[in-house]
Amino acid sequence: MARPTPPFDGSCLCGAVQIHVTAAPLLTMACHCRDCQKLTASDYSLTTMFPKDSVTVTGEVITGGLKSATRRHYFCPNCLNFIYSEVGQGSGRINMRSSVLEAASALTPFVEVMTEEKVPWVTMDLPHSFPRFPDSLEALQTLMDDYAAQ
Ligand SMILES: [Zn+2]
Ligand SMILES: [Zn+2]
Repeated sequence: MARPTPPFDGSCLCGAVQIHVTAAPLLTMACHCRDCQKLTASDYSLTTMFPKDSVTVTGEVITGGLKSATRRHYFCPNCLNFIYSEVGQGSGRINMRSSVLEAASALTPFVEVMTEEKVPWVTMDLPHSFPRFPDSLEALQTLMDDYAAQ
């Protein structure tokens, strides 16, 4: 499973928001938490993490979902498509929703998190699986290193 190579382009459902990414993904993830189930109106969210400075977002975005000092979710104001999140202040990373990218089908999740809240009919066979989240920044860095080494 090779890491897909940049650039990556994407858009929201209506096309008012356009995405362009110049860097390789840092990590791909599926999150089974209840928040993600509600946000996506489905069983889990799919995330492709990129360095923030490699991502260009064209068009207006609004925040939605649950807002906190360390977590912001961005949506298209017209079609209300969930586009990306910024998690952890000053982390320098953006959690792009894999589904808005044209390369979505090649962005195979490498890690699943929050399997504690997973719906019973979803089964994934991924290299890494966590009942909650990786418990430290070091653990996250190890996952990113593993992902880059594929
Ligand atoms: Zn839109
Ligand atoms: Zn989640």
